[in-house]
Amino acid sequence: MNIESQTVQSIRQGLVRKEFSALEIAKAFLDSIKDKEKDINAFIQVTEDLALHQAKEIDAKISRNEDLPELAGVPCAIKDAILVSGERCTAGSQMLRDYIAPYDATVVSKIKKAGALIVGKTNMDEFGMGASTENSSFGVVKNPHDLSRVAGGSSGGSAASVAAKECVVSLGEDTGGSIRLPASFCGVVGLKPTYGAVSRYGVIALASSLDQVGPFAKTVGDAETVFHVIRGKDPLDATSVDQNLSHGNRDMQDLKIGIPKEYFGEGLNSEVEKAVRQALGKLESMGAKIVEVELPHAKYALAAYYVVNTSEASANLARYDGMRYGFSKRENNDLLASYLDSRGESLGPEVKRRIMLGTYALSAGYYDAYYVKALKIRTLLKQDFEKAFEKADIIAGPVSPILPFKIGEKTQDPLAMYLVDIYTVPANLVGLPAISLPAGTAGNLPVGLQLIAKPFQEQVLFQAGKALELS
Ligand code: GLN
Repeated sequence: MNIESQTVQSIRQGLVRKEFSALEIAKAFLDSIKDKEKDINAFIQVTEDLALHQAKEIDAKISRNEDLPELAGVPCAIKDAILVSGERCTAGSQMLRDYIAPYDATVVSKIKKAGALIVGKTNMDEFGMGASTENSSFGVVKNPHDLSRVAGGSSGGSAASVAAKECVVSLGEDTGGSIRLPASFCGVVGLKPTYGAVSRYGVIALASSLDQVGPFAKTVGDAETVFHVIRGKDPLDATSVDQNLSHGNRDMQDLKIGIPKEYFGEGLNSEVEKAVRQALGKLESMGAKIVEVELPHAKYALAAYYVVNTSEASANLARYDGMRYGFSKRENNDLLASYLDSRGESLGPEVKRRIMLGTYALSAGYYDAYYVKALKIRTLLKQDFEKAFEKADIIAGPVSPILPFKIGEKTQDPLAMYLVDIYTVPANLVGLPAISLPAGTAGNLPVGLQLIAKPFQEQVLFQAGKALELS
């Protein structure tokens, strides 16, 4: 079988027509992983036994003439922050190098029930902190389009594994851009759903008010299918909600795309801008109307994001103390020394930086000045978007201000790394759904177009994305 061109749809057809078996699919993609991993490093762990076992179950269903579930036989990789029962789950950290997940995350149970073949756990920035997957303690993920460049992060492994055809779809997690940015850098589709659309139960938290799990795929249709499999209220996650999803597709002529000038300002690479404007031009030529919108508080979003992110991260990561969770070093009977040794040895520099920043922002004397201020910016930004959505159905702009950069280029400069998130963090702060679509290339490097919609309007993102795909 030709693995290059497989999609959810083509796999289904091939299985129904008995052109190949699920076991053949599993083996072909596991071979592809073996072949490409020495270059890409997208996986922390390959779950060969699990994939083969699931493939046999699908083949048994076919032999019994049973109906096939939505993702039957589709090779799927899972970010290593999402629990798969019985498999190691590291979140890219030495802190969790020996942690075996005792249960499935809700998204994983849903993916399994839908018949997908889980081929492995993907590489990521430690605890999701980063924009390049260089902060992983399991090595850098390389961009399949240029091995000297980063794949983006923090879900770099999930994006690269789809781009390198090591799987057909994957799951990532996006706190401030971690699905959209690597999707953009690797030239694949990546969706961050509305906050609350997808359960976070069994997902290792970075910043709980921002985190959302979403799919990567080669096509918009595949991302849509995976989204519909994983979404929905989960009694195990109180922040998940029942969704009133708007289905029916609207006419492209009725679609208004808002362009915020704040997304096309200083610091935007000219080649990125060109590709994004060309893609928008295509949507316009199909009948969509381009309107100008304003997001006056967007300029504060990055600062607010890094206060909220580090604050929540410092609280969420307190559990990894070598007593309750994680790597434990107890060489003497001193409790404090044991905390310091366990955390000191097994957490990387970016994680330590954020724990310190967040603890500082939440401390009694500074709480109002930093954390409360950041929450106020969050409210103002929400109002900006509400106003903009009075004029437009979708807000569009680049995903990243720059092209995929060279490995090592920004590792010594955390602020330069944070700036890469400038266009992605607003959607997380406000909880809106946002998608990264392949918009074209600059040389051989992919450029992503970002579309943001109103809460629970993922459908309009899929519709515009499919139109662009066909153009
Ligand atoms: N790059 C952002 C950060 O470092 C986004 C991370 C994420 O979405 N998990 O916080």
